[in-house]
Amino acid sequence: MKNTRGRKRRNKRRIIFICKIAVCFAICVGVIFGLKAAAEMVLQGESKIILKPVGMEIREGEKIPEIKANIMVEGEQDIILDKKSDKTIKDLVTELKKGENYTVICQTDGKTEGSFPVKIVLKKELEKKLKNEWKGIVSIKTETATLHVKNAVGDWEGKKFKKANGQYAVNEFVQLKDGRYYFDENGEKVTGQKKIGVKQCVFSEDGKLQSEKFIGIDPTKPMIAITFDDGPGAEAGRILDVLEKYNARATFFMVGPRVNTYPETVKRIAALNCELGNHSTNHPKLTKLDVAGIQREIQTTTDAISKATGGRKPTVMRPPFGAVNETVKQTVGLPIIMWSVDTLDWKTRSTQATIDSVLNNAKDGSIVLMHDIHKPSVDAAVQLIPKLIERGYQLVTVSELAQARGIHLENGVKYSQFYR
Ligand SMILES: [Zn+2]
Repeated sequence: MKNTRGRKRRNKRRIIFICKIAVCFAICVGVIFGLKAAAEMVLQGESKIILKPVGMEIREGEKIPEIKANIMVEGEQDIILDKKSDKTIKDLVTELKKGENYTVICQTDGKTEGSFPVKIVLKKELEKKLKNEWKGIVSIKTETATLHVKNAVGDWEGKKFKKANGQYAVNEFVQLKDGRYYFDENGEKVTGQKKIGVKQCVFSEDGKLQSEKFIGIDPTKPMIAITFDDGPGAEAGRILDVLEKYNARATFFMVGPRVNTYPETVKRIAALNCELGNHSTNHPKLTKLDVAGIQREIQTTTDAISKATGGRKPTVMRPPFGAVNETVKQTVGLPIIMWSVDTLDWKTRSTQATIDSVLNNAKDGSIVLMHDIHKPSVDAAVQLIPKLIERGYQLVTVSELAQARGIHLENGVKYSQFYR
């Protein structure tokens, strides 16, 4: 009995032991398979495609370039997305690289300065597939870039300003979106007070123009009115540069067709407070025309000047060849300005002869006759302006000269000098 009971107990223990082994084995197998699956999940994971648009820079008014996205892929690319067509992640990437399946959106017409976000919008169909069928297999992340629309004027370089044409702003104003700036002879932004042209200008610490005040001329000091006929000439801008640099003015008697050819020059003449003069349209001897003919000659040019300057009208006129009669006087409707120093520059076409003529003959109250359509005359003016200032003359307009002498200019009256 004792033996039988002992055997039974041993058998039971053996069965329990075998059971334990089996359970352990099962657990181990389970764990191994589980880990393997998990490892596969980790290895394969979800493939990620990143679309990032390329940031760009254009100038105001330039055409917005076609913006494409840079495409980066993380993870497996051989996974089949669509069993029917065998389309893989790689195929999807190829489509995206061709610019398919998405659009780039940037809300600007490129005409206004600023920074604008460039966004990528996936096509709805693709978006749907990513959310449903392809969930956990592949995802697409879209990033944002910026399109910078720079102002059409140019760019800051520290205190200097490089204009869109590549040149630095020197001795000139630059109008930017946030304010009006002035750059001195070294091309540096001006702050505080500065006399510019005929104005006393005040700038803030960061260079923005705060106020400008017209500075009158000193009537006790000598002055000369230089006048230029038959223009504006192609190189008249060189005269204006020098006038601006030396805070000087002149009077320009212009002909209509040239006003229409060089409207920017006329605009600048007005902006520099130089005087706008009418010199007829076709440059005829007005004495040979009837009233209607004279009126037409004057009115056409007045209209051209007004158009070029945004409404400014000539305040004086000079008859071609100085030809005046009673009909002309009664018809022109402007003060008639002759001259007291005739440089004969149109005849000599000599820079030196023109300079000498002015330096030898001009005096306080003179009206000097020159022509800005001839290069030697422009060269002469460029040298004369600083020379006359050096000699103590204020270079003023005809009207300023008259005003300084207490003379009120009247329409149809001839004036040739304003000596004391
Ligand atoms: Zn003329």
